[in-house]
Amino acid sequence: MDRPHLRDVPVDVLPEALRARGFPNPGDLAHRVGLAIHRDGALGWDEVDASGRIGWKVRARLSDAFDLSPRLETLSSRDASDGATRKWMFRTAGPWPAAERIFAPREDPTVGPPAADGQVVEFVLIRHWDDHTLCVSSQAGCAMGCSFCATGVLGLRRNLTAGEMTEALVRVQRDAGVRVTDVVFMGMGEPLHNLDQVLAACTNMNHASGHGIARRRITLSTAGLVPGIRRLTRERCRFRLHLSLHSAIQETRERIMPIARLHPLPELLDAMREHQRDLALKWITLQYVALPDVNMDDAHVDALGRELTGLRYILNVIPWNDTGAAHRAPTWDEVRDFTARLRRLRCPIKVRYSAGKSDGMGCGQLAAETVAAAPTGHMLAPPGVFTA
Ligand code: SAH
Ligand code: SF4
Repeated sequence: MDRPHLRDVPVDVLPEALRARGFPNPGDLAHRVGLAIHRDGALGWDEVDASGRIGWKVRARLSDAFDLSPRLETLSSRDASDGATRKWMFRTAGPWPAAERIFAPREDPTVGPPAADGQVVEFVLIRHWDDHTLCVSSQAGCAMGCSFCATGVLGLRRNLTAGEMTEALVRVQRDAGVRVTDVVFMGMGEPLHNLDQVLAACTNMNHASGHGIARRRITLSTAGLVPGIRRLTRERCRFRLHLSLHSAIQETRERIMPIARLHPLPELLDAMREHQRDLALKWITLQYVALPDVNMDDAHVDALGRELTGLRYILNVIPWNDTGAAHRAPTWDEVRDFTARLRRLRCPIKVRYSAGKSDGMGCGQLAAETVAAAPTGHMLAPPGVFTA
């Protein structure tokens, strides 16, 4: 039997994994192991010993059966000038763990084999009163190639594993001396393009034997990968899901988000309606990056009113953060004028100014430092995105 990495194993299947390896009392042991490596944040077997949750004999057998070596190296952490935002850069220290295949067989065989290791990924912690929100990266780079996003320019280097995502959470908590209360998968990458690993990470973040973060405080954000949305609906997944819509006009969407060619608006919005209906969700949050001369005119406001019928939604307007791409950031007056015209939709509207954007930590800005620090891996696109 191979030796999977313990942090890659969702704690809800850990009892089964322990039973298969001959451990007595697997349910109770799984709970104690989960608390030691997630809640207590043990980063190696010596730290599990120090946690005092597991006797040395069982722990010796555990370390024969499971790997618990660090998978990330902290390269740097840096505070933004707003005093509420801090960014970490981590370097992955492969090898690609076998557990990924054992516990969460990938649905999407097109993503792989992994690129060379030593990928650099960025995580951002945002403090708001007593809440600490971690913006999690799910991939090194991203295959979606949105024109307004710095991560998209990188292409996809490789998926992160569940263990890498939760190890980053542990490292951030230890460095910052806080407990993360909220998680948003809005860092680098498209979480629904790496859904098995993302869901395993969410389970370990949420579970009572894991970090214990409330389900409604864990949010996935998607550019519109319909098969992933439908899977979340089918599996009655209760983590939150935001859709990055950015336009209700198909041509515009295709121009700024290549994935729209693969999953056109009618199909995408049907999947969202179904998600809202089947999970009985009161609101669906739609994100809308405000790009002057692209998606802020009256035709786009009218299209929202026309296309979004049957959805009960909150519109989250994000003024574009400069990435150096061929777009222009809206002025304050342009945003105000746009939201005034959006009022005719009669939906709740929020304007979200990204924390840390003047220091390159805002939405869509994660990549610049990565480019400098990471080796070039091969880049992979999801099937059909660039050919459909
Ligand atoms: N891939 C996922 C999640 C990561 S991006 C997605 O696209 O939804 C998180 C959010 O930041 C998305 O709504 C994305 O469209 C937005 N975003 C990307 N680049 C941005 C930029 N330069 N300025 C403002 N928001 C941006
Ligand atoms: Fe990927 Fe999201 Fe950036 Fe688009 S906006 S390139 S989907 S990370």
